[in-house]
Amino acid sequence: MKLIFLGPPGAGKGTLAVKAVEILGVPQISTGGIFRAAVAAQSPLGIKVKEIMDAGKLVDDETTIALVKERLAMDDVQKGYILDGFPRTIPQAQALAGFSTVDKVINFDIPDSGVLVRLGGRRVCRKCGFNFHAVFNKPKQEGICDHCGGEVYIRDDDQASAIQKRLEVYRAQTAPLIGYYREKGLLLDMDASPMIDEIVINFKKVMGLAV
Ligand code: AMP
Repeated sequence: MKLIFLGPPGAGKGTLAVKAVEILGVPQISTGGIFRAAVAAQSPLGIKVKEIMDAGKLVDDETTIALVKERLAMDDVQKGYILDGFPRTIPQAQALAGFSTVDKVINFDIPDSGVLVRLGGRRVCRKCGFNFHAVFNKPKQEGICDHCGGEVYIRDDDQASAIQKRLEVYRAQTAPLIGYYREKGLLLDMDASPMIDEIVINFKKVMGLAV
């Protein structure tokens, strides 16, 4: 099953992806996660993208497409994958069609007010990338990941100024993908407003899986 998770920042794509990996048995590919790992490693890619990410802007299509193309050539994704955060522009979607088929695109439907609440409280494990929330889903021990013991921190691009920019970028560059994939008959709309347990149920329903 080759799936795309499409939605604004803070819609819960990464949180659902962790559950969907277990449900479907295919890996999650998070372009944001790959970029963050590159920044942490201070690799040439990380040095190139850090400022762009911190400002809430998109990394250029050429760099991002090359990265995903290379990742999708690996053995572990031949049966399927969940693309979390890619494509984010029409050129990225067109490029993807040149090197992979896509079975379904899940459109995370959530108003801006919901996104702001989630991003404002988001906390992330620096080591394994697991998402927590300062109010709704706190780590058992403050600042420490329940899953791997890594440091739980606030992403640089979850600062208020970057959040506004990311929402603007989403509307201008990513939201047009909704129409693009709807026209192709691949889009499944999913209510992403509730808490995660209910979102998992919504996901199973739109996918036609037993709830
Ligand atoms: P995310 O974790 O998906 O919110 O992504 C974090 C940041 O990584 C984004 O704000 C962009 O700067 C960059 N990024 C992730 N995926 C893409 C993409 N498909 N195209 C361009 N930039 C991306």
